[in-house]
Amino acid sequence: MSTLNPAALSLADFYVTDTPGILDPPPDFLRWVREADWAFSQYEPVFASAPTPRALLRQGDEAHPVVNLGSYNYLGLGMHPAVLDAASAALRQYGAGASGPPMLSGRTDLHAALEERLGRLLQREAVALFTTGFAGALGAISGLARRGDVVVADQLAHMSLVDGAKLSGARLVHFAHNDPASLDEVLGRERTTRKLVVVEGIYSMDGDMARLPELLDVAEAHGAALFIDEAHSILACGPTGGGVVEHFDAQQRVGVHFATCSKALASLGAFAAGSEDTIRYMRYFAHSYTFSAGLPAVIVGAMLGALDVNERHPELRGRLWDNARYFRQELRAMGLDTGASDTYVVPIVVGPDRVLLYEACAQMRARGLFLPPVDYPTVPEEQTRYRASITAAHTRADMDEALDVIEETLVPALRVRGRLRGRQV
Ligand code: PMP
Repeated sequence: MSTLNPAALSLADFYVTDTPGILDPPPDFLRWVREADWAFSQYEPVFASAPTPRALLRQGDEAHPVVNLGSYNYLGLGMHPAVLDAASAALRQYGAGASGPPMLSGRTDLHAALEERLGRLLQREAVALFTTGFAGALGAISGLARRGDVVVADQLAHMSLVDGAKLSGARLVHFAHNDPASLDEVLGRERTTRKLVVVEGIYSMDGDMARLPELLDVAEAHGAALFIDEAHSILACGPTGGGVVEHFDAQQRVGVHFATCSKALASLGAFAAGSEDTIRYMRYFAHSYTFSAGLPAVIVGAMLGALDVNERHPELRGRLWDNARYFRQELRAMGLDTGASDTYVVPIVVGPDRVLLYEACAQMRARGLFLPPVDYPTVPEEQTRYRASITAAHTRADMDEALDVIEETLVPALRVRGRLRGRQV
């Protein structure tokens, strides 16, 4: 039996398969994942602690302390006492589950209060809650778009947005990442009046911010509505945490203001906000809303707690952005490639060398740094990377420790292969 070169293959090579049984994976896939276990074992890490800046990562039977750069806990609210108190009060009052879908089985006062609070934060009339970001994106887009419509998505739009468009039956086309001229060209080719432009606030793998005012100008010129996913920007951007939309003061120009609650809101779920009419209609046709149990009140309580902290401590956002600036500057000073990032989502681009990606990742873990790898096909083959998530809760000492590990492991590995950039300051 010939040996497989684990680094020459990726998941993309195994998507299409003609094995006789639908439950049978391709034999080469099974060999590949076995032989590449040294790389795959770095996925689905197990923690013995909360996802705080200092966490305990399981390695075999032991749990090792690590600096954690892999959690989207942007404002650091995951273990905030006010969030835990609000969640446990909700748990005691309303119980552990949701009992059924909100349409039929109902929801609680807390759900109504959360929708109201989010509506105020986003300055929109109506809000619908979903149980996950992924389910929310599927539901919100397929609740509005129909066969014959066109969804024009940024080339780097998240899989949940792409899948939502596919599920809707609308035609899905892409425009070049964050490029208003490309959006203009793509929209100019479309004849239907029913067009939905889909963008993100801060891009999840690249950490750059949407050029929202220019994209809105183009969308409006073509009579298209705009849907923005603020998964990585809600609470973390804007003067009061209303996201990139608030940052650009564009609340009334956006058709659907969507975000997940699993990141800065330190919880789970998602919401879609917009006009009363749009959201009322969408609710009935978003299958992941109508045919799925709602969020348990304990989760809703946690989010209300996070919104309280957000109101009381606007300085957390300043700390987040200061931390991110420091961390990015230090990486660039080492000659590392942080791509287009100008936020707290910080890619460290390694390039096409996937052996290096996983080997250096394992070394960093052994040295006490958890920095997740992102491989092709999630990102382009030439740009495999690590993706660091900086939070307001990281201290200078946390970041310096992480930077020391990177400097002593990844930097020499890239230098040897001639892949280090010159120092950039
Ligand atoms: N949208 C974007 C842009 C995301 O990055 C993610 C997840 N990282 C989601 C949606 C899905 O959200 P969730 O993980 O809360 O389901």
